[in-house]
Amino acid sequence: MNYIIFDLEWNQGAPEEAGKVETLPFEIVEIGAVKLNDSREMISEFSELVKPQVYTQMNYITTRLVHLKMSQLENGKPFKEVMEAFLEWCGEDYVFCTWGNLDLLELQRNMVYYGMEPLSDEPIPFYDIQKMFSLAYEDGKSRRALEYAIDMMGIKKDIPFHRAFADAYYTAKVFDMIEEPEVLEKVSFDTYSIPTSREKEVHITFSNYNKYISRGFKQKSDLLKCKDVTGLRCYKCNRPLKRKLQWYTPNGKHYYAVGSCFRHGLMKSKLRIRRNDSLVYGVRTDKFISKEDMKLIIERKEKAEEAKRNKKNILEE
Ligand SMILES: [Zn+2]
Repeated sequence: MNYIIFDLEWNQGAPEEAGKVETLPFEIVEIGAVKLNDSREMISEFSELVKPQVYTQMNYITTRLVHLKMSQLENGKPFKEVMEAFLEWCGEDYVFCTWGNLDLLELQRNMVYYGMEPLSDEPIPFYDIQKMFSLAYEDGKSRRALEYAIDMMGIKKDIPFHRAFADAYYTAKVFDMIEEPEVLEKVSFDTYSIPTSREKEVHITFSNYNKYISRGFKQKSDLLKCKDVTGLRCYKCNRPLKRKLQWYTPNGKHYYAVGSCFRHGLMKSKLRIRRNDSLVYGVRTDKFISKEDMKLIIERKEKAEEAKRNKKNILEE
């Protein structure tokens, strides 16, 4: 299997035209990519400029786009033509890799805007190299600029940054230096298309946690009522768990619960509520925790509840 590491440059237009097309907030103006074989050796390159159709002026405020001028894009090809060439170049057996988690979303938005089918009708597995860099070299939560990673790894800067091909090339260099098996297993999912049925939902178990992406629901209350989403089961033995902490939310977006399996111990579930067009879906991660972790979670919950009560009291006074 090959790795397709790609990067996009996109433009949102000058401030006065930004957002004029609601379905296309960011217009792709360049696609750059490198293809790696399964030993992560570079075997092919792709680079094309796209001639803009929507936004006529470059937004120089966005940091993502500083090295292209409108006049250069005059030589670009129409998006559809570039995209078709790109997919042809990708071949058959590959997985996408990007720096961060936005490129597959914006790529598909542009495809649909130009009347093409999105890449898939379900979540697409991909490698988010920015996240993997953080997992391998930092705390797993930080998200660094590509140049930061290049400097930290001592990778030679032999071509200028911030053009699509260069950023794909450097992303490939960072990817090549990640060896940890527990990082390389951490595939991400693009949810431009969410699971359309229970059968198509995403269940994936990594060495230290389990991840689930639900189908879409019309309302958040339906999602929260669904046992597939909020029923607690041990991901190692599939037994229903004894509830140690009922689902609670500090902010209405993230929900937490803890259950206990008599064989595997305490399991914490975190549910994030997401929106996709008119539907609501959930991304849940399950992880085994220690008794000390459990204590911290209860403390945090009590603090959140106290803050809520104080707020209410102030409002009532
Ligand atoms: Zn168990």
